[in-house]
Amino acid sequence: MTFVITDPCIHTKDTACVDVCPVDCIHPRKDEAEFEQASMLYILPAECIDCGACVPACPVAAIYDSPESTPASQKQLIEANAVYRAGEPDAVARAESLAKAHVEAHPELMAIAPADRAAAHGK
Ligand code: SF4
Ligand code: SF4
Repeated sequence: MTFVITDPCIHTKDTACVDVCPVDCIHPRKDEAEFEQASMLYILPAECIDCGACVPACPVAAIYDSPESTPASQKQLIEANAVYRAGEPDAVARAESLAKAHVEAHPELMAIAPADRAAAHGK
């Protein structure tokens, strides 16, 4: 378990991180069937090599460098990143169900524009 995408990605999904990831471990990509149904992108922890390239590429500071550094308000999304696997039949649904639960649990964060949301994550 390594880098983690969190809620500023929800409704942003601009895929800047996908373009810089050297091992193609951030999904779904725009050219994958799951892209439209995914509310955010997920890092496949087993494939991430901890290079850090995605962090400065993200325009909304959605990516934390470890589960330990991920703020408490975002902990549910650690699991969402972990369960997502491109190709498994119910992977997107399982990850999306966790993302949906996060959205429902944090209306105060969702009310903030994505670009300003990370500043409100707390620790
Ligand atoms: S840390 Fe590197 S390998 Fe991991 S998701 Fe980011 S860009 Fe990809
Ligand atoms: S760059 Fe940030 S907002 Fe864009 S898809 Fe990646 S994690 Fe999501």
